Amino acid sequence: MIVVFLGPPGSGKGTQAKKLSQELNLSHISTGDLLREAVKKQTPLGLKAKEYMDRGELVPDSLMIALIEEVMPKEGGFILDGFPRTVPQALVLEDMLNRHGRNLDKVFLFDLSEEVVVERLSGRLTCSQCGAVYHKKYNPPKQEGICDLCGGKLIQREDDKEEVIRKRYRVYAEQTKPLIEFYQERNKLTRLDAEQDIQEVNRKLLEVLKNGG
Ligand code: ADP
Ligand code: ADP
Ligand code: ZN
Repeated sequence: MIVVFLGPPGSGKGTQAKKLSQELNLSHISTGDLLREAVKKQTPLGLKAKEYMDRGELVPDSLMIALIEEVMPKEGGFILDGFPRTVPQALVLEDMLNRHGRNLDKVFLFDLSEEVVVERLSGRLTCSQCGAVYHKKYNPPKQEGICDLCGGKLIQREDDKEEVIRKRYRVYAEQTKPLIEFYQERNKLTRLDAEQDIQEVNRKLLEVLKNGG
């Protein structure tokens, strides 16, 4: 099974991808996590990507396409979390899957208003060591400031400041929203109400993937 999670920043894609990948034994490919790793390690990709990420802009398609070609599993199911984000990326993905005789099963659109996006991202806490994600109010760690999974320090991401959040939302509306129509035309799109709580969104995802509707 190959699934794409589409939606504004902060709509819960990463949270749900982590859960679902364990429940259905799928690989989880988060381009945001891969980029942050590259920045941390100061690889050539990381050095080029950092300035775009800090500004809340998209990393250029050429870099993203090279990255996805490198990490896409040749076999087994996977969830793409945060890719594609532009029409050119979606076209390359389609072509890449075709070449391997594979097919995208479903695209989930995580539907959320800008105001809730800002609330979610201003409260997001990220583990500086393992990347695990929490929320001050909606998904707090057991011990304040400390990751439940690895004991690492929880931080606020540089791009989770209100000004950059608003910028990222605009970038989403301009560059990523056209993918809604792109996947609708291909009959792949399922809309999810991403404002519901974490368990409810997870339940809905499992229901759609098990019953096809
Ligand atoms: P994305 O990967 O789409 O940017 P995240 O999964 O990182 O989104 O979630 C953004 C923030 O919102 C995190 O702090 C997360 O804990 C919180 N969150 C995720 N899903 C929900 C939900 N259904 N209800 C409330 N808060 C949520
Ligand atoms: P969020 O889900 O909170 O928006 P991500 O962790 O998915 O954030 O992405 C963080 C940043 O990484 C984005 O703001 C963007 O700069 C870059 N990025 C991630 N995926 C892509 C992509 N497919 N195309 C271009 N840039 C990307
Ligand atoms: Zn951690």
